[in-house]
Order: sequence, then C-alpha cells, then structure tokens
Amino acid sequence: MSLIDLRSDTVTQPTLGMRDAMLGATTGDDVYGEDPTVRQLEQTLAAQLGLQAGLFVPSGTMSNLLALMAHCERGDEYIAGQLAHAYKYEAGGAAVLGSIQPQPIEMEPDGSLDLARVAAAIKPDDFHFARTRLLALENTMHGKVLPLAYLAEARAFTHERGLALHLDGARLFNAVVKLGCTAEEIGHHFDSVSVCLSKGLGAPVGSVLCGDESLVAKARRLRKMVGGGMRQAGVLAAAGLYALDHQVQRLAEDHQRAHDIAEGLEALAYRVEPVQTNMVYVDMGDRATSLKAFCAERGIVITAAPRLRLVTHLDVLPEHVDTILESFAAFLKA
Ligand SMILES: *Cc1c(COP(=O)(O)O)cnc(C)c1O
Repeated sequence: MSLIDLRSDTVTQPTLGMRDAMLGATTGDDVYGEDPTVRQLEQTLAAQLGLQAGLFVPSGTMSNLLALMAHCERGDEYIAGQLAHAYKYEAGGAAVLGSIQPQPIEMEPDGSLDLARVAAAIKPDDFHFARTRLLALENTMHGKVLPLAYLAEARAFTHERGLALHLDGARLFNAVVKLGCTAEEIGHHFDSVSVCLSKGLGAPVGSVLCGDESLVAKARRLRKMVGGGMRQAGVLAAAGLYALDHQVQRLAEDHQRAHDIAEGLEALAYRVEPVQTNMVYVDMGDRATSLKAFCAERGIVITAAPRLRLVTHLDVLPEHVDTILESFAAFLKA
C-alpha cells in the first residue's frame, strides 16, 4: 500500500525528470565557487526575485540564520511573528549562534504583522536597549498569502524606520502561483529572501538566500562558518533548477487538492479554516490522536495536533482525495 503522507510538503520524492537532471549535472567544488550548476541556480533565482545575488544552502533554517546574522550584529534585535518559523521552529539559532535577540509580536489572522504593533516594538536608540535592526516576514504563513499591498506598506515602513526587511519565503512560489504574479513582484520589496526548494517545489535538499551582493558575500562567509559550504553540490542544485523550470506552475494542483479536501471535510461537518494554498487546517480538539491512529491503518499519515494541518504536494494524487475523505467520514462513525 502506498502511503498518503499529509504531514508536510517536505516529504515529496524527487520525480524521474528531476533525478535525470541530477544525474546529468555539471559539477565543481562550490566552496571554490567552481560549481556551474550551483551558480546557475543562485543567479536564476536571484534574477527571478529581482535581487542581485543568491547563495545555495542546505536548508531553510540555515538560510534564515545566515540572513539574520548577515543583517544583524551581536546585540542587535529582529522583530518577527510569534509563530514565525525563524523565531519558533529553528532552535533559537539566531540567538544562540548570532547573539541576536528576537522580539516576537502577535500575528494577525491573515499571517501579517500589524505595522503599528511593529512600530511599538522598535526600541529607541538608548543604551538600555538592544538595537532593533530588522523585520522578518513569512510568506506563505500557515498557507496564507500576504497581499502585495501589505508588502509595499511593510517596505515603506521599514525604509522610514531604518530597518532591513527579510522574507522567509520557504513557500514563496505557492504565493506566486496563488496571486498569479511574478516572484519579482514579491521579492523586490525585500532586502533578503529565503526560498525553500525542498517543500512544494519537490527538490530533495536545499534553499537559496537572495539579496544584494554585499549581503550575500557576508552570508557566504557565515555559511562556511556554520559548516554549510558544500562541494560538488551541483547534483543538488540541478534538482532545484529542474523544480524552478517544471514544478512551479503545478503548485496550482496542490492548491486545488487542498481546496477539494477542505470542501469535502466541511461537507462532513468538520471545522475547517479557509484554504488559500496547499494547507488545510482542521479543528480536531482532543480527537487528533485517535484520528492519527485511525488514518494510519488506512495508509494516511498525519501529525496529531488539535489544530490539525493537512499539507498537499506532488505525491498527493487526485485519486487520493476520495480515500482521504472516506477515511475522515469513517472516523466520524467509528
Ligand atoms: C520548512 C521551513 C523553513 C526551514 O526549512 P528547513 O529546510 O526545514 O530547515 C523555514 N521557514 C518556513 C516557513 C518553513 O516552512
């Protein structure tokens, strides 16, 4: 029985076309800057985002860490949402490794940060305080897309307040496909953008941090420092290039699948949050653990959580939707 794994879009297997691209990749030692495929990936993504340069890194966690450390010095502070991945789910790396203090603030229901709240959190220039240096946003945030108008406001605000603006765009292309815009329409608002290749884009490994030349040069030094300098990494970068060429527009299918699952669950009287991209959130309360076991017997893998998250991706096929809905229907009767 092939499993339907709804825990995350990180579980995708490299497609055959992607494996072929990896097999055929031209490589070199990227620490010497000699891997043409890595360079091509970095330049391609930076150009798509309207930024000067890119840096290929093993993970989104490292990408965010390098961005924060490149923008902020020891004793500086960054502002991020309470639920931001960079703040909450990255083991406190910026604080531990960069001596950068996080200032988390409550998030709005649409995944944005209220700029008035951000303004109130900025520390005055006074030796009692850490120096507020950067605002970090996330897009998509729990599957929600930040409106382009909000990004423009955040850019104007951070310029006015002298803050850098970073985007954790792990799922930036889900936002691009949902809005029907270009990556540049999102990317050009930011000083740095991190994009994951290993989520919905379906590559096995890797993220790219993009920004201007000087920021990326600083991040490149930091990447070596934290052990992220990779050698013949072109085999991995080739997967990322293949994803950018072949697996972006298909994200719309993941969004459709998530929409279909949400609609079906609502018809079964589950309480489902509105779906924008590839994530369905279901209010399961204390039934989540028993649902997980019930699903496991039917070949469906989920993470038990009261606010249950179901994530669609390229290995969740159209015919799986019925299997999922049948199992959730049977669970109600069990
Ligand atoms: C997955 C994710 C990351 C980190 O990526 P890893 O490659 O798992 O380290 C960062 N931010 C967001 C929003 C993510 O979803």
